[in-house]
Amino acid sequence: MTPATPCPDDDTVRPTHVVVDLGQLAQNLAAVRQQVRTAKVMAIVKANAYGHGLVRVAQHMIDNGADYLGVALYEEGITLRQAGITAPILVMGGIAAEQIPFFLKHGLTITTSSIEKLHLIDQAAAAAGVKARVHLKIDTGMERIGIHYYNADQLLEASLQCQHIVVEGIYSHFANADAADLSHARLQLQRFLDVCSFYDKRGLPMPMRHIANSAAIFQLPESHLDLVRPGIMLYGYYPSADCLRSVLIKPALTWKSRVVYFKVVQPGQPVSYGSTWQSDHAVRLVTVPVGYGDGYFRILSNKAEVIIRGQRHPVVGRVCMDQLMVNLECGTAYNGDEVILLGDGLSADELAAWAGTICYEILTNINSRVPRVYLV
Ligand SMILES: *Cc1c(COP(=O)(O)O)cnc(C)c1O
Repeated sequence: MTPATPCPDDDTVRPTHVVVDLGQLAQNLAAVRQQVRTAKVMAIVKANAYGHGLVRVAQHMIDNGADYLGVALYEEGITLRQAGITAPILVMGGIAAEQIPFFLKHGLTITTSSIEKLHLIDQAAAAAGVKARVHLKIDTGMERIGIHYYNADQLLEASLQCQHIVVEGIYSHFANADAADLSHARLQLQRFLDVCSFYDKRGLPMPMRHIANSAAIFQLPESHLDLVRPGIMLYGYYPSADCLRSVLIKPALTWKSRVVYFKVVQPGQPVSYGSTWQSDHAVRLVTVPVGYGDGYFRILSNKAEVIIRGQRHPVVGRVCMDQLMVNLECGTAYNGDEVILLGDGLSADELAAWAGTICYEILTNINSRVPRVYLV
């Protein structure tokens, strides 16, 4: 059972909160499904489902037909299991040896890229009297985790000897699938397919092959293979400005707050820490109860805009830990008026440009002090 959803008008919800449109998330998932046709879909829900709320979003993805869930960390996988989610979950990050028995206990699918870990998994599975579900990770040009493609045969060979392991999948990850120039991505794909040909050459059944992130779903249809791993596109954002927008998706997250204070500031009276901003004429300012302690980057000081009563207004002075100030000039706003920090046409890409980062970091940075409310 899912817990009761707090309603946005509920006075127990902090004025600063995130609203996630579950219907839009489902539409984005359906758009992925349509684009990839027969490939299975692993919904990537790491980093608190890109800020949208891990458990609720994971359950929603499964309810809407996602075949698999992907997380970065063991701890994220455990959180999902403890919430009662029984769908298959791949933990994509590297593993510590002492975690292996717990992966098995909770039925989490393990990523491995070394023969040594493979043997530890095999032994732990034998001891537990279970079969471990494993995906082999091949590094085809990212240099993060994975056995190098030019050494991968050894790992694949070793896996055939493990009696207590099921190699359900084999995968790799693109470094540049969001670029206009796809030559490196194509090279990575070719290397990956060459590694996978190991199974064909021996007449063995092919494990599930996967390499496509959102960027590759948009730009490289030949990389969709048996399963795709969309992250950012499920949340309605494109991986980069260069990336082909071959699927229509829309953001599902709105970050809101409310005006808590209104005042007129006289000319030459500096605003906030460091006195980085002042006006040469009297202006109307409002204070909003959100700050870098919520994940609203301090570097947005004197750069970002927010929406109040349908109008954009600049954030002035330094963003504090818990509050920020907005210049209305001669506009009007009352205490309690809604302030849109992100969403409703103010995109995470815009905030990212102001902050010198990417939309991924804007979304994942909204922290746990900000309640999530779900529109069903
Ligand atoms: C995060 C991640 C993804 C999803 O990437 P997006 O660019 O958000 O689609 C897919 N695969 C792996 C291994 C990842 O770490």
